[in-house]
Amino acid sequence: MPPPLQAHRILLSHRVRRLREAGAIVVGKTNLDEFGMGSTTEGSGFQVTTNPWDDSRVPGGSSGGSASAVSARQCVVSLGSDTGGSVRQPASFCGVVGLKPTYGRVSRFGLMAYASSLDVVGCFGSSVFDTATILSVIAGHDKMDSTSSSHDVPDYRSDLASLSLLESKPLNNVRIGIIQETLGEGVDAGVVSSIRSAASHLEQLGSVVEEVSMPSFSLGLPAYYILASSEASSNLSRYDGIRYGQQVSADDLNEMYGDSRANGLGHEVKMRILMGTYALSAGYYDAYYKRAQQVRTLVKKSFEEALGKYDILISPAAPSAAYKIGEKTNDPLAMYAGDIMTVNVNMAGLPALVVPCGFVEGGSAGLPVGLQMIGSPFSEGSLLRVGHIFE
Ligand code: GLN
Repeated sequence: MPPPLQAHRILLSHRVRRLREAGAIVVGKTNLDEFGMGSTTEGSGFQVTTNPWDDSRVPGGSSGGSASAVSARQCVVSLGSDTGGSVRQPASFCGVVGLKPTYGRVSRFGLMAYASSLDVVGCFGSSVFDTATILSVIAGHDKMDSTSSSHDVPDYRSDLASLSLLESKPLNNVRIGIIQETLGEGVDAGVVSSIRSAASHLEQLGSVVEEVSMPSFSLGLPAYYILASSEASSNLSRYDGIRYGQQVSADDLNEMYGDSRANGLGHEVKMRILMGTYALSAGYYDAYYKRAQQVRTLVKKSFEEALGKYDILISPAAPSAAYKIGEKTNDPLAMYAGDIMTVNVNMAGLPALVVPCGFVEGGSAGLPVGLQMIGSPFSEGSLLRVGHIFE
């Protein structure tokens, strides 16, 4: 089978140029699910990427190759894209640090659009310090992306370098809320206990940790899949074999469009385009797309409320540790359900940092679990500070 239309969502872009100018050596492109649609990297047009902790398991996705490369120490840092969790969930599965910046913090110029109102370029690192170093370089306004923000870019790296890690209570006065709904039914017991011990560790470091309820949390997942698929169906219409994508020759133009798309796009991508086209079509728009937008507003408001009381909200980055290759490929709903912890953050446009926080049984050495820390818009500096002190 020829490789699907795209290989890597991030072309030689603004961010890669900035990294090179800052002295980085770019060693390669990494694998991912086609167009960033997936949670395991099994939906790649190339090969299956394995998890360095246990090569019978997935590295997560969609940016699984980037997480796996850092985890296997093939590189120190890498880039990925996060539309609904594609940096944070693989970071958790591979035991590395993953950062999803605030929407607009990093330019999307050169990133292939999946769902433009949710897409963000994020970074992976072996440590919070490395991740902060990369963010300092790639963040900031870019005239080629009108949604990129002009908000000041702090020197995240120097900020961490100046922290004294010798204080006994370095997190004094930091208020942390554990999102209650993320530790309930459907979440593996080992994941829950890793998050609870991370919370006690944060408390020992001086912060105040309390439980906070966000009843709209579980509504985010179905709304995300409607919105992301709707935007994808529109964004991917340019892959018609003429403007973009592989062209299949045919006698007539419509046949050429049809055959090019049928041949060039993978199964999951076609499924998303169909779902999105359906949700946007006359007669269904109000019941699906409009409803999902209303849920998005609700989710945003509930985060605003919770972040009015707490500096940081915490949850697992995924309901389980890495699962076996092939385990969920025939059950898309089970695969989508695994994104429950991350998608709300994209709908609200917030920053979130994932740091390794424990292990559950599995493989020969155990499987890593990641703690997700969510903050207010443009609070990446505070998240990195807490993450650095925590790790
Ligand atoms: N797994 C989610 C999806 O398939 C998130 C993907 C992403 O963040 N790129 O849509």
